[in-house]
Amino acid sequence: MPDSQALDLQAILDDIYTALSPRRGEGKVADYIPPLARIDPKKFGMAVVTIDGQVASVGDAAEPFSIQSISKVFTLTLAMGKHGENIWRRVGREPSGSAFNSIVQLEQEGGKPRNPFINAGAITISDLILAGHTPREVIGEIVRFMRYLANDEDIAIDPAVARSEAATGFRNSALANFMRSFGRLDHPVEHVLGVYFHHCAIAMSCVQLARAGLFLANAGVTPLSGHTVVSRERAKRINALMLTCGHYDGSGDFAYHVGLPGKSGVGGGILVVAPGKASIAVWSPGLNHNGNSLLGSLALEMLAQRTGWSVFGA
Ligand code: GLU
Repeated sequence: MPDSQALDLQAILDDIYTALSPRRGEGKVADYIPPLARIDPKKFGMAVVTIDGQVASVGDAAEPFSIQSISKVFTLTLAMGKHGENIWRRVGREPSGSAFNSIVQLEQEGGKPRNPFINAGAITISDLILAGHTPREVIGEIVRFMRYLANDEDIAIDPAVARSEAATGFRNSALANFMRSFGRLDHPVEHVLGVYFHHCAIAMSCVQLARAGLFLANAGVTPLSGHTVVSRERAKRINALMLTCGHYDGSGDFAYHVGLPGKSGVGGGILVVAPGKASIAVWSPGLNHNGNSLLGSLALEMLAQRTGWSVFGA
């Protein structure tokens, strides 16, 4: 299999776009909030940024979209930075096998969420990063972290999405209150949810997202500045969680077809890490039956085949 320098990534992305373009609009766009329901279902973009600086992109790769649950990779990174391995006292690291917003397992497991990527787990992570700060300070910290990682000051929260998340977030509110009833949140529920709803409402393009994920592909160091974001060990562990828990109830299927750590969001985005090679982001709003971008998953499967980047072998 060729090394990434020998691959013509732009030609590969062009081929994928041409092959999948007739299927743009397939899948079901998330409609639980108006700002997502309004998105053109035919949007389709993809970007690959390699650790040695190549950038390839296609379609709507420069257009910001709601990254939603993809933000959970970055809040997890911040929480690990603040609390280290102690976070595992508060949240597990096993695939959940039930819906991303399920409350059933929480009751069975004493209010401890299965992993940091299901909603209850990400709400716990929001509680952990609050660590005595105000929601405003922490939301600012998360946005600054995204800007720093992507090396792009234009990244921001979409206020309409944040408002809608808060206005309709009854299930998330139930999850937070349920955990509070087990004594498992340190901060007021409104503060914790404020952080959670806002980080879900961050808007980024595929290019920005792929750049932000580079540190996970490069053993914890972002090649954009040469700064160490996390240790090699920690990058490996975050990738492991993405592989096992990053695609809701379709994580096994995604590992089977794509074979790369990834995290998807209900906005139709997927961030994928090819360790030692590249960071990849794709966006197509139509979702499959597991709630993962339908075209995005297919595009990543094609990319993994063409590049031989699967972590399970070329
Ligand atoms: N803000 C969404 C929720 O909490 C996130 C959904 C997702 O991308 O998984 O319901």
